[in-house]
Amino acid sequence: MIINCDKCQTNLRLKQDHVMKAYIKVSCLKCNNIIIAFPFLSGHINNVSHLSLISAIQIINKQGKEKQYIAASIVLEEIIQKINLKELNLKQAVIVFEFLFKIIKYSNTQKNIKSTYDFYFKCLDCFLEKKISETKLHYFNNELLLINRDNSLGYIEQITDEKRLQFFSKKLLEHNDSNRALTYFFITVSNLNMLNMKFDEILNKSYFIEFLKICLQYIIPYKKYLNKILKDVSNNEIFFSQLIVFILDNFKKDITYQKHLIYCIKNIMQLKSDSWALAVRKSIAESGHSNILFQEFLILLNESKSSTIFFWNYYDSVFSNIEIYWKNYFIKAVYIFIKSNSNVIYQNYIIFYIQSKINNNKDITLKQLTQLIESNDIDIFNNDPKTVINNSYKIIDQFYNEEKNVKPTIINKFFKKIGGKNGK
Ligand SMILES: [Zn+2]
Repeated sequence: MIINCDKCQTNLRLKQDHVMKAYIKVSCLKCNNIIIAFPFLSGHINNVSHLSLISAIQIINKQGKEKQYIAASIVLEEIIQKINLKELNLKQAVIVFEFLFKIIKYSNTQKNIKSTYDFYFKCLDCFLEKKISETKLHYFNNELLLINRDNSLGYIEQITDEKRLQFFSKKLLEHNDSNRALTYFFITVSNLNMLNMKFDEILNKSYFIEFLKICLQYIIPYKKYLNKILKDVSNNEIFFSQLIVFILDNFKKDITYQKHLIYCIKNIMQLKSDSWALAVRKSIAESGHSNILFQEFLILLNESKSSTIFFWNYYDSVFSNIEIYWKNYFIKAVYIFIKSNSNVIYQNYIIFYIQSKINNNKDITLKQLTQLIESNDIDIFNNDPKTVINNSYKIIDQFYNEEKNVKPTIINKFFKKIGGKNGK
């Protein structure tokens, strides 16, 4: 085998035992320049060991010379066959894939692309068989994404190709393994989110929906897994809420799933800004899932140190900003809130608060409201606190009982005046 000194262009003949190695350092006979030769790139690969091949690849990656990758593209199949998947660890895999992805960058043939990605899926499958932790595979995915940063969309396109997703679904059904589902989710959905793809665009493809349903079926039963995938896409509140709506639409029959979902939403929201939380809640309510928000409200109310402070903060930040939620659940929330306070002083305080809210409302005066209520034989503005509480309950109870068949009663108007911003 003849190599060429890159300094003085002298041709040098390699000895036979040098050709057996994946790489060899030789010095030029004429100028003493040290040359690293890679005989395996010229087809001398039969006697090369797995480890020396990895070392040689690592040197090529460090040198980053285009001509080496082009030479490698011709013997790509042979190189892949030499890599022993059973021996390959994650660190080595990153080195190998940096090499392979560079090869297809410089020699973008269909055959090489197919070989590289086929090998990638084989490798991933092998790691999953070895039960390598999801966190480590997450790291592996991020490294590959980084390597492919010039062509990340092309990379993701290959991974989310119809046949690949069908393959993932098949593997999931075969193995019944949630850890595998988690990894598949990260390398498909999370990656797409990371590349600013919209969730709507994913749902345009029916095969993606099928895959997603199977994948989530293995994730949702585990609260910590569900929390992981949601947290992973939570940088984008639209993507996050659309994924939640997808889960609610497709797994609505199961109460346990809903409980897990509410738990996760609540946890993640606590880490986020008010505007983030509002956008998510709005999106969930407007997709017809206000009941989920209300269940979350009940948990938050229950957990709050001061239910009164919580209630009115929640009213200001959530109810008053999401009309459809306010319309369907505010009265219910008031009812539960007042009933939850067994302390008479508290109850008086709430009623006082409601009254002051009415007083502040320019659209209706206390006098007008009193007249309205008196005309319906209900007096909540009595001087005796006990009568005030009892009468308030009467109003609320009456409303609550009628709630399934809402009529524009005086009570309805009363609560609308309390609940609506600017008297809407
Ligand atoms: Zn030389």
